[in-house]
Amino acid sequence: MKIKFYGTSHGVVEKDRAGQCIFLEAGGSGYFFDMGKSGIECLRNDEYDVNKVKAVFFTHLDSDHFLGIMRFVELAVWYFKEMKYKLFFPEERGFTFIKSYVDTMMAGCSFPEDRIRHEVFTEGEIYKDENIKVTAVRTNHLHDPGKSYGFLIEAEGKRVYITGDLQYTTADRLSDFPGIAREKLDMLVSEGAHFSSGALMNELSCCEAEKIAVIHVFPQNKYDELENEKHRLKGELILPKDGDEYII
Ligand SMILES: [Zn+2]
Repeated sequence: MKIKFYGTSHGVVEKDRAGQCIFLEAGGSGYFFDMGKSGIECLRNDEYDVNKVKAVFFTHLDSDHFLGIMRFVELAVWYFKEMKYKLFFPEERGFTFIKSYVDTMMAGCSFPEDRIRHEVFTEGEIYKDENIKVTAVRTNHLHDPGKSYGFLIEAEGKRVYITGDLQYTTADRLSDFPGIAREKLDMLVSEGAHFSSGALMNELSCCEAEKIAVIHVFPQNKYDELENEKHRLKGELILPKDGDEYII
C-alpha cells in the first residue's frame, strides 16, 4: 500500500506544512485519514482519479484535521458527480456542519446522501471492504470521552497505526499512548505536539514498528530533538514533510 502525507502540521500551519491530512492507497482505491488540508486539491494536483476515493475517516473534529473536507464535499456535490464515498465521524456534528455548509453556500443543490454517505463511529472495527479494514481506538485528547480516536489500518497484509491526537501531558510518559502502538506494525504514525520530545521518545523506544513516522509536531525545534534521539528506536524514524509518500 502507499501512504502519502499531504498535511503534516498541527493546529497552526507551519511553513510548507498544512493541517494533518493522510492519504492511503490500497487495492486501487483511496482513503483519507483526516483532512486538515483540501483533499480535492491534493488529489487534483497529483492527477489522481478522485472517483477512486472510497472513504474519509476523521480522528476527531478539530479544524486542523477536518476543514479540508469542505471543498472535497462541495466538488462532489456539483461537479464530480460520479464520486461516491463514505464519511466517518466521531460525532454527528461533523456531518451537520458539512451539510449546513452545502445548504447555505450552494443554493439549489441538495445534499446527495445516496453518494456521500456518513456514519458516526465508536470504538472497534468501523470499516471493511475488499482492500482495507479500519479499527478505531479511543484517545483522551478531547475531554469528552468517545470523541477522539486513533486508527489501525490493515491492508495488503500490512498494519499501520495512526495515533490521532493524544492527551496533553507534562509527564515523562504518555498515559494516553495506546498499547496497540507497541505491537508489530509496518508503520506507526504518531502525533508529536502534546508532550515533550523526551516523553514521546520514551514511548516510541518501546515500539516494534518497522517505520515510526512523527507528524503534527509542535514546536518545530522538536524535529531536531527527535532526530538526535533516533538511536533509541528499534524501527526507522521518519519525519515526513508535506507531499512525502512511502510504499509499505
Ligand atoms: Zn491536531
